[in-house]
Amino acid sequence: MSMDEFENEGQPRGSPRRIISPDDYEDRIGSIEPMAFLPVGSGLSYGDGRRNDSGTLIECGRHNRILAFDPGTGILTCEAGVTLGDILARAVPHRFFLPVTPATALVTVGGAVANDVHGGNHHGRGSFGNHVRRLTLLRSAGERMVCSPEENAELFAATIGGMGLTGLILDVELRLMKVPSPHVQRHTIRFENLDQYFTLVDRAGEEHEYVAAWVDQLATGRRTGRGVLWAADHADGACEFPDIPKRLKLSVPFSPPVNLLNSVTLRAWNEYRFRKQSPGETVSTVKWTTYFHPLDGINGWNRLYGRRGLCQHQSVYPAANAPETTARLLETARRMGHATVQTRLQRFGDVAASGLLSFPRPGFSLTLDFADHGETTIKLLDALDRIVVEAGGAISPCGDFRMSPEAFDASFPSWRRLEALRDPAMASNFWRRTALALRAG
Ligand SMILES: Cc1cc2nc3c(=O)[nH]c(=O)nc-3n(C[C@H](O)[C@H](O)[C@H](O)COP(=O)(O)OP(=O)(O)OC[C@H]3O[C@@H](n4cnc5c(N)ncnc54)[C@H](O)[C@@H]3O)c2cc1C
Repeated sequence: MSMDEFENEGQPRGSPRRIISPDDYEDRIGSIEPMAFLPVGSGLSYGDGRRNDSGTLIECGRHNRILAFDPGTGILTCEAGVTLGDILARAVPHRFFLPVTPATALVTVGGAVANDVHGGNHHGRGSFGNHVRRLTLLRSAGERMVCSPEENAELFAATIGGMGLTGLILDVELRLMKVPSPHVQRHTIRFENLDQYFTLVDRAGEEHEYVAAWVDQLATGRRTGRGVLWAADHADGACEFPDIPKRLKLSVPFSPPVNLLNSVTLRAWNEYRFRKQSPGETVSTVKWTTYFHPLDGINGWNRLYGRRGLCQHQSVYPAANAPETTARLLETARRMGHATVQTRLQRFGDVAASGLLSFPRPGFSLTLDFADHGETTIKLLDALDRIVVEAGGAISPCGDFRMSPEAFDASFPSWRRLEALRDPAMASNFWRRTALALRAG
């Protein structure tokens, strides 16, 4: 489900766009105007990094063939429009899994590379780009360039996390990881406050493949930052679930006329969510589709956020000041009248990203999802940015549609190197209002 399809049903940030196929784009090479294009995958980024309102989008999902898969080594080559779900469907019966998976399998490989996406195992395996062996890039001058850490290495690094600006990714070669089972054994641990979380998380990261936590953003006083931590590993081969579980497809047909996600309902929901988990640790085995991609079974889930839609603020900041920074971010959202529907806290590990502008970096990452309330939400997002920048952190461009050029500059000081390698044909709304605004001075 593309966010565009949703926006076009009356969402304010949506607008009709021109769209062509990768083949049509290639046919136009030789007569391409500057900044007139942008590749797009499944359109699942929340921000304006996948929009070029004064240009034309290249719809990469149309090129979606798996070109090769070696079930001995787990090396897979595919066109950029293949989804992560397509890869899992092919690889899971051979006991291979994506080494990094975001919380939806509907994204394309091109989109996963261009935003260098991360999963719950960043502490051990880094981000998506760390598992890309090589890719082919079509530049608007007509060259097809093979890029890898050894060949055209600078362009490779600029393309990982490069937000589609270095050219059209045609195909990607990935190394998948061997697993005993795609399903997971999950340890669920309740924590009473942020101090307990920070005590738990390091050990959980040393012992488990995946670690993530939900935090009750509305809890105050000595309960500030209480929540639930999940630490998981792939289950052993004796796991009783079928490889590809059947999923019941649910649907949210329209946006509710009243705001269901307000601080009263969310306080009650958070209380229930916290109390549902008894103190101590419980262990269960969970189907991989439920564990990794819970929203993929619900069509139009983002309609629950109301007519203005969902706003996401994700940041990463150094471990040294993470307890204070996390508390400040949670408190600021509360004080400014926003209740988050989903709040995720995660430790990012030390694996060096392969992208020039990759967002994941060592530290802690907090993701706040809330309903967009217009002007007051923009003020809140700006206030959150200031806290993150002051803490020496970065704001994710993936969900962003309004970060200031200064906040972008502080988050991604290497942007000039990407600008130097940008394909002149490509631009996005995001790049215009951040990097190009900075360049114009
Ligand atoms: C429910 C949900 C959960 C999510 N969970 C996570 C998560 O856990 N971790 C995480 O990191 N992200 C997460 N995301 C964000 C998502 O993984 C990224 O936004 C991803 O980039 C979307 O891929 P897409 O195919 O939809 O790309 P789009 O949104 O269409 O585009 C994203 C970027 O990729 C570029 N691009 C796409 N295809 C190509 C191509 N062939 N060549 C060059 N550039 C290309 C576009 O220009 C754009 O800059 C989540 C999103 C949703 C909706």
